Formats: sequence, structure tokens, C-alpha cells
Amino acid sequence: EAKKMDDKDYLYYNQNMKNKMKKKKEIEDKLRNALNNDKFKLKYQPQVDLTDGQAKYFEALIRLKEDNISPGEFIPVAEESGLIIEIGRWVTKEAIEQLAIHEDNEIKISINFSVQQLNDKEYIDFLVEELNKNNVNPELLEIEITESVLIEKEAEAIEFLNQLSQLGVQLALDDFGTGYSSFSYLAYISFDKVKLDKFIIDRFLEGQNLKTIANLIKLFHSIDLPVVAEGVETKEQYINLAEMNCDYIQGYLFSKPLANNKIKKLLQENLIQEI
Ligand code: C2E
Ligand code: MG
Ligand code: MG
Ligand code: MG
Repeated sequence: EAKKMDDKDYLYYNQNMKNKMKKKKEIEDKLRNALNNDKFKLKYQPQVDLTDGQAKYFEALIRLKEDNISPGEFIPVAEESGLIIEIGRWVTKEAIEQLAIHEDNEIKISINFSVQQLNDKEYIDFLVEELNKNNVNPELLEIEITESVLIEKEAEAIEFLNQLSQLGVQLALDDFGTGYSSFSYLAYISFDKVKLDKFIIDRFLEGQNLKTIANLIKLFHSIDLPVVAEGVETKEQYINLAEMNCDYIQGYLFSKPLANNKIKKLLQENLIQEI
């Protein structure tokens, strides 16, 4: 039964719309300002190797310097406005420069990639130029993509990812378990790693569901895909995942995302011994 919108509803609806658009516009201005005035920074969260407790990979996560607004809020605005292309390039350059700084330690850094960045036709040329300029081995850089990239732009995405793969850049399938989780694209793309989303870690890492995760990990291992568990916060989760031979853990249990000047010290630590 359709209820007719009365004047009051309409006013409320209209006001709500206006507020949302105003908020979006404000965020867009912040992003433009950040691009022009060097107000972005990257934080780095370690992915801990469960065989030796070492931080091997670091996921680069974008932040605004003087603002608490989270990427969960501003990345969608960047995507809708097209600013993600410039932001994506900034992230790529910054991560590569960080790899160059740590060349002796050979750390690996992963960056996130949005589907709209496929519109950046010169992205790969840009990436290669930055790698060359900084003398960085492409294998030290990993690009994380979610299934949505493959669902929305399948043909383009496959070509793009295969080009990256040929360069030696590593590919990670991010947020596994939140989307449709169709396995079909695993036939076309050689991922180097899969990341299980915090959602399935929290929902499935207890009771009867433990078997589901254990078998999922086995399945990925059977096709030679190392597995990262994301968003691990408790020791109990760690113990269960270790028992299942999960390869890496990324989560607050070991470390929050850190400023770049904290990376070096972390490399000397055994993070498992410290929990
Ligand atoms: P993501 O790629 O899945 O990144 C993992 C998110 O989980 C990060 O949130 C991280 O801080 C958070 N996290 C890690 N461990 C824990 C934990 O133990 N507990 C909890 N509650 N959270 C944990 P963050 O940094 O807020 O980023 C959110 C999302 O924003 C990312 O999800 C990614 O989709 C996007 N994002 C971040 N940086 C970039 C970027 O440079 N480019 C693009 N395109 N997207 C980005
Ligand atoms: Mg990610
Ligand atoms: Mg993720
Ligand atoms: Mg996510």
C-alpha cells in the first residue's frame, strides 16, 4: 500500500538530499585541497607471516593528514567524482618511493585499486615509469583488487591485470567473502594471494563454522594461493588460523596501520612472540 508523500515528508526528503549533496561537495573539496597541498599520507599495516612472526608485506592505507575522515567515507566520493584517478597515482608513487627507501630490507607493499582507475588508460605506463625512476623491483609491489572490479568491467580488468602480472607486479584478491565470490575469474587471472575479509573471519571463525574456513583455506592452497586473514583482533582467532595453516594475518592483534617511520623497527621484531 503506497503512502502518499505529504508536504512534511517531502520537505524532510528534500532537506535530507540537500544535506547529503552538501556533505559530498565538502568531501570533494577536501580531496582536491589534499591533492594540491600534499595533505594525503599513507599508513602501513603489516601482514604477519605465521611461520616466523615476521612482518613481510605492508598494506598501504590512505589517510588525510589533518582530518579524521576515514577512507571508507572519502574513497567512494573520490570514485564518484573521478578524483580517484589522481589519488590512485599519488598512492602508487608514494608506495614505490617507500619501497625505494627500504631497498636493503626488501619489504613488500600492497596498494588498493578501485575499479574506476581502469579509466586511467596511462596507469600502467605511469607505474612502469615510477618503478624505473626509483629502481624498484616490480615484484615488491602488490595490487589489491576486489571482486567488484571483475564483475563491473570483466574484459578490461582481465587485460589490465594480466598486463600487471606480466610486469611482475603481484596481484591480491581483496575482501574475499563479501561479494559474490564466484570463482570463475580464477581461471583467467593468476592471483598471487587471497585476502579473507574481516566479515568472514568474525562470522565463521567460531564453533561449527571453523570447518568452513579451514576448508576454504585448503581449497586456496590446492591452487597454490597463499591466504591472508584480515581484521584479526583476538588471540583465539590467531590460534585457530595458525592451526589451519593460514599464511598471513593482518589485524589489530599484531598492529594497527603505522606511520612509515615505524616500519624499520617492526622488521626486527617477531610479532607472534609479543602477543
Ligand atoms: P581494505 O583494503 O579491506 O583494508 C583493510 C581495512 O581494515 C583498513 O581500513 C584497515 O585499517 C582495517 N583493519 C585492519 N585490521 C583491522 C582490525 O583488526 N580490526 C578492524 N576493525 N579493522 C581493521 P581503512 O584503512 O579504514 O580502509 C578502508 C577501506 O578503504 C580499505 O579496505 C580499502 O577498500 C579502502 N582504501 C584504503 N586506502 C585506499 C587507497 O589508497 N586506495 C583505494 N582505492 N582504496 C583505499
Ligand atoms: Mg585492501
Ligand atoms: Mg580488505
Ligand atoms: Mg575492505
